[in-house]
Amino acid sequence: MSAYQVFQQHLSAELAAIESAGLYKNERIIASPQSVKIRLQSGQEVLNFCANNYLGLADNAGLIAAAEEAMHHRGYGMSSVRFICGTQDFHKQLELSIADFFGTEDTILYAACFDANGGVFEPLLTEQDAIISDALNHASIIDGVRLCKAVRYRYENADMNDLEVQLKKAQAQRFRLIVTDGVFSMDGNVAPLDAIYALAQKYDALVMVDESHSAGVVGKTGRGTTEQFKLRGQIEILTGTLGKAFGGAIGGFTTGKKEIIALLRQRSRPYLFSNSIPPAVVGAGIYTFDLLKNNHDLQDKLHQNTAYFVEKMIAAGFDIKPTQSAICAVMLYDAPLSQTMAARLLDEGIYVTGFYYPVVPKGQARIRLQISAAHEPVDLDKCIAAFTKIGQELNILNSQLT
Ligand SMILES: *Cc1c(COP(=O)(O)O)cnc(C)c1O
Repeated sequence: MSAYQVFQQHLSAELAAIESAGLYKNERIIASPQSVKIRLQSGQEVLNFCANNYLGLADNAGLIAAAEEAMHHRGYGMSSVRFICGTQDFHKQLELSIADFFGTEDTILYAACFDANGGVFEPLLTEQDAIISDALNHASIIDGVRLCKAVRYRYENADMNDLEVQLKKAQAQRFRLIVTDGVFSMDGNVAPLDAIYALAQKYDALVMVDESHSAGVVGKTGRGTTEQFKLRGQIEILTGTLGKAFGGAIGGFTTGKKEIIALLRQRSRPYLFSNSIPPAVVGAGIYTFDLLKNNHDLQDKLHQNTAYFVEKMIAAGFDIKPTQSAICAVMLYDAPLSQTMAARLLDEGIYVTGFYYPVVPKGQARIRLQISAAHEPVDLDKCIAAFTKIGQELNILNSQLT
């Protein structure tokens, strides 16, 4: 057998194991733009409740026009990393728009937030330093931390007693950086940034928040967790994505203290060794932050939609995780039930995804919905009605349990 034939058998066995564990991820194919109403390749039209399209900007006509305009004036691709010949006036303008939005000093763009997180720790910290990380932080933070030689401490999700214990241990190191997601994507809870900040002050630590699910969403005007907890400009490092609320295309950023951003431009590997983001994405980004600068109508609608949806779902008898974001986790606990429920909802024209181990802990299977400012009350009502109908059929509503 050739080397590849041997390897092929190994891969086939791995794939079969994934499949037999019921963990094989199949992709459903969409044949329309990303939106609240989407058409699947099967021809079925469904209401989408599982996109990170929190502000409904993914198919926004203004963003599309801004992307076209930018492409017209600045071309299609950059064919360069930023420091060789990949920096246009538009890139600098977007970086400043993002800093203005978050009340920070400067911003550095990346191809994705995965890269922002992958490239933030190693340039700033050494084996003399400590990173104290929430147990439920995103995979990209975990990978970024692995690339850095700093001593690692982990605290239980949003557990401030445990964070304090870890901070005490981390007094052995030179610098300490606490890192947390702003919103945890599986439950929708917001990191207790006020308490984190207080502990950081007490134990001489810096703070980094990944605002991917909170930026555009959390806080009255969508400025994220620093708005929610009145800490605007106080947190040293924020990371985020252009791939969720802000149009949903691609692109990430780190924003914060100017010396931190300056050092990242010198040493952050995904920035130095990966292509500059294309003019169309940059132009649409500038348009997006202009749109959100003095207007929070989209946030108002998103907050109203979420409050309405959660209230009605609880009233209908569903077990909903307490949420402070646009994420609504309908707890079913049982993995096969989460898959049955999602499939039955799709028959009713409601597109949602069931999550189970290892994405969430064992016995914690759920359907996670994401509410958008683009959902209309009639869409929410249709979703609640479908959930209620299938919930009754499957005997899982609170009123049906004895
Ligand atoms: C989605 C997400 C990312 C990755 O963002 P991309 O720009 O898609 O790479 C990073 N961190 C968190 C917390 C996320 O939710």
